[in-house]
Amino acid sequence: MSHYPLMLSPLDLGFTTLKNRVLMGSMHTGLEETQDWNRVAEFYAERARADVGLIVTGGIAPNEEGAVLPGASGMLNDQDVANHRIVTDRVHEAGGKIAMQILHAGRYAYSPKCVAPSPIKSPISPFPPAELDDAGIEKQISDMVSAAVRAQAAGYDGVEVMGSEGYFLNQFLVTHTNKRTDKWGGSYENRMRLPVEVVRRVREAVGEKFILVYRLSMIDLIPNGSTTAEVIQLAKAVEVAGATIFNTGIGWHEARVPTIATSVPRRGFTWVTKKMMGHVNIPIITSNRINMPDVAESVLEDGCADMVSMARPFLADAEFVKKAAEGNAAKIAPCIACNQACLDHTFAGKLTTCLVNPRACNETELVYEPAETPKTVAIVGAGPAGLSTAMVAAERGHKVTLFDQADKIGGQLNMAKMVPGKEEFHGLVAWYETMIAEADIDLRLGVYVAATDLSEFDEVIVATGVMPRDTGIDGQNGKNVLSYIDVLRGGAKVGKNVAIVGAGGIGFDVAEYLVHQGESPTENIDQWREEWGVGDPEQTRGGLAVEGKQPEAPARQVTLLQRKAEKPGKRLGKTTGWIHRMALQMKDVKMMAGVNYEKIDDEGIHISYGEARERPTVIAVDTVVMCAGQVPERSLADDLAAIGITAHVIGGADVASELDAKRAINQGSRLAASL
Ligand code: NAP
Ligand code: SF4
Repeated sequence: MSHYPLMLSPLDLGFTTLKNRVLMGSMHTGLEETQDWNRVAEFYAERARADVGLIVTGGIAPNEEGAVLPGASGMLNDQDVANHRIVTDRVHEAGGKIAMQILHAGRYAYSPKCVAPSPIKSPISPFPPAELDDAGIEKQISDMVSAAVRAQAAGYDGVEVMGSEGYFLNQFLVTHTNKRTDKWGGSYENRMRLPVEVVRRVREAVGEKFILVYRLSMIDLIPNGSTTAEVIQLAKAVEVAGATIFNTGIGWHEARVPTIATSVPRRGFTWVTKKMMGHVNIPIITSNRINMPDVAESVLEDGCADMVSMARPFLADAEFVKKAAEGNAAKIAPCIACNQACLDHTFAGKLTTCLVNPRACNETELVYEPAETPKTVAIVGAGPAGLSTAMVAAERGHKVTLFDQADKIGGQLNMAKMVPGKEEFHGLVAWYETMIAEADIDLRLGVYVAATDLSEFDEVIVATGVMPRDTGIDGQNGKNVLSYIDVLRGGAKVGKNVAIVGAGGIGFDVAEYLVHQGESPTENIDQWREEWGVGDPEQTRGGLAVEGKQPEAPARQVTLLQRKAEKPGKRLGKTTGWIHRMALQMKDVKMMAGVNYEKIDDEGIHISYGEARERPTVIAVDTVVMCAGQVPERSLADDLAAIGITAHVIGGADVASELDAKRAINQGSRLAASL
């Protein structure tokens, strides 16, 4: 029997057939903006070669005012057509199909030239948009049609018209952003006129045999958003206007509800798409937090959609579909929905890549060639740095021995997976276990390695990680003081009133761990919806709960402390920090910044404020948990140097202050590629 029979069955669109029901969803990677079209082409072709059903490109602007930011890639002239032709040719040679997303950002454009139905500034851009007049709206339609015609000339199999996520077309649909009184505003019929008109005119211009995906906002998650009845009304009109497929959009970018972060349950929004099933006669795609073939198959089995969209999973593993079809799903590198190397990069103006796959968007530059001279390679430490080095080195034909003192691989990933909302880390560790077991790697766990044991290897790599920083706080060795390791490894008894020293990534994680009890909301869609106030767009506008049931009371009273006078959590991920802060606020975690630590004793932790150490205060707690960062564990590296063995030191053992899995995996993979 074939694996994933629904996901892998073809989808007949009448004039063309998609080889399976997997869409690689649109992502802003920044690749197009490099103008290195060979690199762009290779990124998509690698995914096409591995059999994804249909690819949608990152958003391409139809004109200057609609571009997400000045300089963003557009489909504006013959040169653009020629550039994109390189991409479509390469994808077609690889046996794939590709559609270009037409993205008009409207008031979300980070540009003083931005335009919108009404002059209402968005909370996520500093630029107030200019209100379009009738001629201005006609120009936008005509520019979108021209972009579609050029996309066709560039060899695309279709276009996706971006109608969701709070972008331009979406902005016309709801009174939140459309206050017009002409034929483009007022009644719902008027507000939906623009998206319908765009689809009708695009279809007219490109003819019958061209895929036209319409990305429909099925739950806006903003005040005064659409209702399900309105979404269905729009869908019916867009179908008549000429769409081939509907894709699902979940939540506007300004929504204060997480929609794709790792703490969102898997397939957490497919119930929304299901509401559309049966109301239109063209296929419907669902999306958001679908990251593994079994999840995709279950979504299709449950009748939530005809096809699934996955975007970030194709950064994590270009061969997602191929591996699933071959019965090798356990070998698919899992997207853990961390956003650390993809969306956080985009918002920092950096090129996208992937925490678990540094080759993503670097396909032409980071190539794992067979080694010219296979070497013996010793790697000490089976955390993310050591594991990625071992995998790539073994893939290249080196003879790898991987040591760890612990009795299992994963290092600090094993702590991350204990945190509610970070369950995806279980899958990441499981993937490493599969890949290390498959590869020709001599894995030696529970082994202490001395420098003298390593003298016979051609290459020695030290990936021994980190150890907690010694803060020197008076009383830190008391019985009421624990380290984050004691807490996250489990077993340590933690009181009901807790102070956490350090509000970095781990301080936040430990707080999350301590305030939760029972099932993690990430494992229970209904509970998660209650926590975040996600209602039902059939009942409330935009799908915001009228009265969200209060989140469950915290399991403990937690105070999070930091010395810097800045907002705690300020340095967390750009696209996820706000979620962590909100999650802890919902659990009444008290955050205190700008403190000095005076001492810890039986009363709790004594703090003061400012350089003059004013306002001495005791925070009465039963337990203090130290989350004050780490320092490199370099004892092996030092011992090796002392006996004259040159070693490569990577990951946290190299730089602890930036300790994170993204840097460790990237550094390890690149080192192994160079051996
Ligand atoms: P971190 O982010 O560097 O935070 C360390 C915390 O300890 C800071 O709040 C720092 O703030 C405090 N601190 C530093 N020196 C101190 C001292 N001598 N005494 C008392 N407090 C001190 O380190 P982390 O929390 O251990 O996280 C390590 C890395 O793991 C992060 O860089 C991140 O990449 C990764 N991580 C990320 C996440 C996430 O983004 N969600 C989660 C987990 C881990 P003050 O100096 O102001 O007191
Ligand atoms: Fe997924 Fe994280 Fe990779 Fe982004 S960086 S694709 S969220 S694993």
